[in-house]
Amino acid sequence: MAYELITIPCLSDNYAYLLRCGTTGEVAVIDVPEARPILAALESRGWTPTQVWLTHHHYDHVDGLPDLLAAYPAQVVGAQADAHRLPPLDLAVAEGDTVTLGNLTAEVIDVSGHTIGHIAFHVPAAKCAFTADSLMALGCGRLFEGTPAQMWDSMQKMLKWPDDTTICSGHEYTASNAKFALTVDPGNAALISRASEITAARAKGEPTVPSQLSTERATNPFLRPADPGIRATLGMPTASDADVFAEIRKRKDNF
Ligand code: ZN
Ligand code: FE
Repeated sequence: MAYELITIPCLSDNYAYLLRCGTTGEVAVIDVPEARPILAALESRGWTPTQVWLTHHHYDHVDGLPDLLAAYPAQVVGAQADAHRLPPLDLAVAEGDTVTLGNLTAEVIDVSGHTIGHIAFHVPAAKCAFTADSLMALGCGRLFEGTPAQMWDSMQKMLKWPDDTTICSGHEYTASNAKFALTVDPGNAALISRASEITAARAKGEPTVPSQLSTERATNPFLRPADPGIRATLGMPTASDADVFAEIRKRKDNF
C-alpha cells in the first residue's frame, strides 16, 4: 500500500504528522499544536488535507486547528467521549470505529490514562499508529486524569500491534525518558545502546520520534512490567504487571 508519513516539529517539543494515501492523494493532519509549521509542510508539497485527526483535547494538540481550517476546510475527527472539550467535531469516534483516508483505514482505540478519552489511530496498511501522549518514545504520558491501571490497560492494547508499527507519539521527551528508564532497567543492553543513540541524535538536533514498536517493546519500561530485571530492581518479583507498571509510573513522576 502506497503512503507517505511526514513528521512535523511544532512548538518547543511537540510533533504533528501528515499521513497521505499514495493512491488517492488524500491527506490527514494528526494533531495541530500550531498551524504555521503544518501549513508550511503542506504548502511545500502541494498537499491539501481533507481530514484532521485529534488524539486528545490538550491545547498543545489542538490550538492550531482554527488557523489550519481557515486555510483548508478539512473534516475534523475526534473522540466522542471528549466532544464536550474538543473543538467542534465533524466525525465523533469511539473504540472499534474506523476512519477512512483514501485507501487507508485507521482503527480507533481508546488509550485513556493521560486523559480520559484519549484515542489512538492505528493504520495497519501504513504500519503506523498515532499515539500522542499515551505510548511515547521510551515513555508514556503523565496520568492527568486516568489511573495507572487504565494506562496499563491502554498499553496492553498497543502491545497487540505488529512489531514493525511506527509509533508516532506527541513529544520529544526521549532523552529525559531514557535517563529515567535506565534507573529501573539498568541491565538492559538494548536500552543502554538506545540511550546512547538518543544522546547522539539530540546532540545533532535530530528527532528521536517516531520510533518502532519493536524498539519500544525491548526498551520502554512502561511496556515491560513483566521483565524480571525491572522487577528485581523494584523489589517486586511477584507483583501483578499492573502494580509494577503503577510503581514505574510513580517513580517517573518523582524523577
Ligand atoms: Zn496531552
Ligand atoms: Fe501533549
